[in-house]
Amino acid sequence: MSTSLTAPRLGAVLPGPRSWLRARPWLQGLLVAPGGLPHDLPHGVGGIYVLLYHGVEASHVAGLRSHLEALVDRGRFLSWDDVVTAVQEPESIPAGPLFCLSFDDGHKEWVDRVLPLLQEHNLPATFFLATDRVVTGTSRTSLTWRDCAELVGAGMAIGSHTVTHRRLTGLSDAEASYELTGSKEIIEQRLGLQVRDFSYPFGLPGLDYTARHREMASAAGYRSAASALPGRMERGHSVFDLRRCGLSPAWPVLAMRKRVHE
Ligand SMILES: [Zn+2]
Repeated sequence: MSTSLTAPRLGAVLPGPRSWLRARPWLQGLLVAPGGLPHDLPHGVGGIYVLLYHGVEASHVAGLRSHLEALVDRGRFLSWDDVVTAVQEPESIPAGPLFCLSFDDGHKEWVDRVLPLLQEHNLPATFFLATDRVVTGTSRTSLTWRDCAELVGAGMAIGSHTVTHRRLTGLSDAEASYELTGSKEIIEQRLGLQVRDFSYPFGLPGLDYTARHREMASAAGYRSAASALPGRMERGHSVFDLRRCGLSPAWPVLAMRKRVHE
């Protein structure tokens, strides 16, 4: 992993092409996949690999299943609690690759499609909510607070991903503070739990958030915050810059192998 926290890659300074490609995950997967050819998934290498997904279309459930089954064969899965503990208390990191699952934004299919798959493989995951994307009452298309409560009831963890999902670097301090504290309070009131973890919208350090936002997240009462910068984490990694490997369930396993090795 050679990418510096202060020097975003080309894709990071070109948010237009980045968004265009992300909206076409099958094409992105095809472009990324050849890079996976020289890699196997890690098996002899220790460290923590946090994976980041968003929504899962019906046609991509099989893809997510193939990703998870490939990873289950290679290493253990940790909860978010375990990841935070492991990077803060290095002696607690067990040998071998460790994986952790996270999902961002707020998607109805988290309950309908993702949860059954997680339960089938007995895997923990953390779901980061942009609270404006969660609706009250019932809905056949949008994630509801009742859906979120079902995730919690099934043992899944919930984090905050702001209120409106705006890029923090485009906001005033007061607006950014609202995104951090408002979303935390809303989730805590709606679900009756303590929210301790945050994920930065868009997630690239230096572009989408800065040291100022890391400080604000800490001041808002979070114990950790996650980026979308891929890579392996080892002992002593900053809990306010947790790395995550952004993946699409539309990608072939080869593309996942490439991303996990970046
Ligand atoms: Zn997001």
